[in-house]
Order: sequence, then structure tokens, then C-alpha cells
Amino acid sequence: MTQPVSLVWFRQDLRVKDNPALQAANDFGTVVPIFIKDTSINAEEQPGDASNWWLHHSLTALNDRLNGHLQFFEGDPKQLIPELVEKFGANAVFWNRCYEPAAIERDTQIKQSLKETGCAVSSFNASLLWEPMSIRKQDGGVYKVFTPYYRKGCLQASSPRYPVPSPERISYSSVDNIGCSLSSLNLLPTLDWAADFTNHWQPGEKGAAKHLSDFIHNAASGYEDQRNIPSVKGTSRLSPHLHFGEISPNQVWYALIDAFEQPDNKHLDCYLSELGWREFSYYLLFHFPSLPTQNFNGQFDHFTWRNKEDEFTAWTKGQTGIPIVDAGMRELWQTGYMHNRVRMIVGSFLVKNLLVDWRKGERWFWDCLLDADRASNSASWQWVAGSGADAAPYFRIFNPVLQGEKFDKQGEYVKKYCPELARMPDKYIHKPWDAPANILAHAGVVLGKNYPKPIADLKASRQRALDAYAETKGK
Ligand code: FAD
Repeated sequence: MTQPVSLVWFRQDLRVKDNPALQAANDFGTVVPIFIKDTSINAEEQPGDASNWWLHHSLTALNDRLNGHLQFFEGDPKQLIPELVEKFGANAVFWNRCYEPAAIERDTQIKQSLKETGCAVSSFNASLLWEPMSIRKQDGGVYKVFTPYYRKGCLQASSPRYPVPSPERISYSSVDNIGCSLSSLNLLPTLDWAADFTNHWQPGEKGAAKHLSDFIHNAASGYEDQRNIPSVKGTSRLSPHLHFGEISPNQVWYALIDAFEQPDNKHLDCYLSELGWREFSYYLLFHFPSLPTQNFNGQFDHFTWRNKEDEFTAWTKGQTGIPIVDAGMRELWQTGYMHNRVRMIVGSFLVKNLLVDWRKGERWFWDCLLDADRASNSASWQWVAGSGADAAPYFRIFNPVLQGEKFDKQGEYVKKYCPELARMPDKYIHKPWDAPANILAHAGVVLGKNYPKPIADLKASRQRALDAYAETKGK
């Protein structure tokens, strides 16, 4: 008897372990794994260059895991999926759910059209600990504040599901490979700026497992104390792996719980709550689909941004003259990643000290971050700007000098990414403009020549931001 055939449509779940769609398809019959470069989504939602670099390598790794059976396509999945069902004679289609508004709309349409043709279709949750539609306040409303959302709405509702085992053996269907080559999807950037990324990252399931294991063995037990220090590897660096679904949050959640002997450990609680912030971002995006483009708090619609192009460019290039900001922006450019503490500092400087619209920062991060994620990026930028749900209040303006002095005491992080400041003494590393001439000369720093003078006076620009906000509130 011939076995039923099913398509497994991989999207943001580029793994074999703990993959409910793959598991269900394998139980159902023989499997045709496919990936589609979706050309139907609009330009601003298309992955940025850094994400595409990651995607290319992650797909290579997944195809290896699937013994070369992954078939690649490019086009509109709304047309392609029904066509492929017909070509392969498939009886069912399986996928894991995505939660971006455009993806939800697309998937709903595909589900509907497949059902009309009599093809079975099933979708699963593989990327969230708690799906946004399942968490509500007691009065039926939507949470807008993180702590009650996480502590009450999520933790008290149910435990995250346990990871499912990987299939012992995948039964591949014997259909021909009618897809295109991975390289013809043109995911790799033409600029060689990404060449160094391989020294920092290993996209794919193996790389994700290694990062998790390194974190558990080397940093998890000090997470709460170390996670704010950008010069040490105190965090898990799992964000791109989680974004592309090379590891599920469930695998991470339970691996951490298993690693700590006592469940009431402050480092464990702190780490799990960071995963909670990821959940909260998806929750907000699901319930407020305009989050990436519109102020969550409508009061900010009246805000007058300065949006000076030359200042924005200096920020993107790490040439603002504020060492911790420049170090962060250069870390982003060189490695495709930026430490969370520094993301907050550079974001605050852009939006508050320079009065550049947070959406311009969001776009730059979108293009440059390997972990660029529609939910986390937009929720975090709105948090920084003060326009978001449960956001940092607008009047809380990070002072980058004090932040640097607190979290990068000896300036190790700054010196790594701004080598022109490497010989500055600790006292002035975060404020070279205050250093006496002889100290600058001794360190070989000529402000305005080999390191920029600050593009904004921190005190005056802080006051300007507060004034702009006061004016908005009055409107
Ligand atoms: P860890 O400290 O090891 O945390 C574990 C995991 O928890 C992370 O991998 C991530 O999935 C999640 N997490 C941690 N902090 C946050 C947070 N504040 N919000 C949401 N999830 C969190 N994260 C992204 O994944 N993609 C983005 O596009 C993104 N853009 C950001 C933009 C700005 C302006 C800011 C301030 C933060 C942004 N973040 C984003 C959140 C955070 O900076 C990263 O998730 C974190 O730095 C990733 O490093 P890690 O994996 O070592 O984190």
C-alpha cells in the first residue's frame, strides 16, 4: 500500500528537534520538506541583509540535517503551495505557526484554499511558550504591562509544553526534486561586510545547541549579575537561533530548569523572564499589529522629531563621538549583533538626544541585526522611545557616559570597537572631550581628527528632549 504524502513547509522553525509539524508529518506518512522564499510580503517586512545571510547558512545546515531532501522555491506561497500539493500528489500540508500579521493573513488564506480542495492541513505552535491568543486578563482584556502578563497571565496559566523528541527516522517521499538551488535564492549579500560573521556565529541547529550548552556551563549561574556587562559573554547569544527557530524556547526553557538544581534561583528566574520579554513582544505584535510602524501611545503622534540626516548617518557609522554609542554601532556592523544594554544606550541616544524618529533606528537594526525580529525589534524600539506598552518613561534619558562608567568600567568594550581610544585612561574613556590636552596627546587622540568630537552636548540635548516631550504632552 502506498503511504500518504505530506508537505512540511519550513519557515521560522529551521530545525529537526522539537519540531511538531515535522513530527506530525512523519507520523502521517512520507514527507516532502520545502522552503519558500516568500516574494509576496511587502518590502519593509522582507528580511534585511544580515537576516538573509543567516537564513542562507541556516538553510544549508537544515538541508544537511534532512540529507539533502529540502526543496527550495521562490514566489507567492498562496499560489505555490496548492500547485505543489497537486504536483507531488500530497494528501496533507503541515507547518508551524508564524505570528507576524502578514504571515497570519497569508497562512489563513492558504489554509482555507487547501481545505476547499480537500487537502488536509495542520499547523502547530513551535516558537512560543504561550501563544498570544491564549493569554487574557481576567476581564477578557489584553495585558499591556509585562509583569502581570508574565507572572499572572503566563506562569499561572500553564507550564510551557515539553519539547517533542526528534523523529527516529524521517520517511522521505520519493518525489523528484523540482525546486531551485539554494544559491539561486540570492540570499547572500553582495557586500563583503558579512564575511567576518562566520567567526562569530554558526547558523543552524548545531550552532544553537552549542551556544545553549556554552551558556549553561559558563555563564548561566551568574546571569543576573553579568548580563549587563557588554565586554563579557554573560548572555546566551541565542537570539538569532531563536528567531530562525533553530532551537525552540521550550528547549531552552527546560534545559535551563534542568541545569539549575534549585528552581528558586535568581539567575534562572531572571533568564526565564527574558524569554518572557520575547513572548510579550509577540503578544503585543499579535494584539496590536501596527506596532512596527505606529506609536503604541498615540500621544507620540504629535512629537516633533528633528531627524537630521547627517546625525543619523554618524550614528549608523559609529562616529558620534560618544564612545559607548560608537562601540555599540560598530559591534553591530562588525558582528551582526549588539549587546542588549548597549542597544538601549544607542537607542536612547538616537531617539532622545538626537530626536530621530525611533522608526529610523528600527529600520537600521532591521537591516543589520542577525536576530532582527519584527516583534522584539519594534516592541524594544517603542520601549526605548517611551511610546510603547510598558515603556521606559520618556523622561528617563540614559546618560551614555554614566552608563559606560557603570557597565564598562575599564572601557574594555569601548577599546575593542574603538581602537583609536585604546590608550585613553579609564577616567576619560567614556568622555574624551573632558580630558586635558596632555592626556589626549599621550593617548594619541586628536578629537575631530582620529576620533570625532561629540555630535551632541549631552546636557543640552537632554533638556531639548524633555522640552519637546513637554510640548507634545500639552498638544
Ligand atoms: P539573553 O540575555 O541571553 O536572553 C535570552 C533570550 O531572551 C534572547 O535570546 C531573546 O530571545 C530574549 N530576550 C532577551 N531580552 C529581550 C528583550 N528585551 N526583548 C525581547 N526578547 C528578549 N531581540 C531580538 O531577538 N531581535 C531584535 O530585533 C531585537 N531588537 C532590539 C532592539 C532594541 C532597541 C533593544 C533595546 C533590544 C532588542 N532586542 C531584540 C532584545 C535584546 O536586545 C536581544 O534579544 C538580546 O540582546 C539577545 O541577546 P542574547 O540572546 O544573548 O540574550
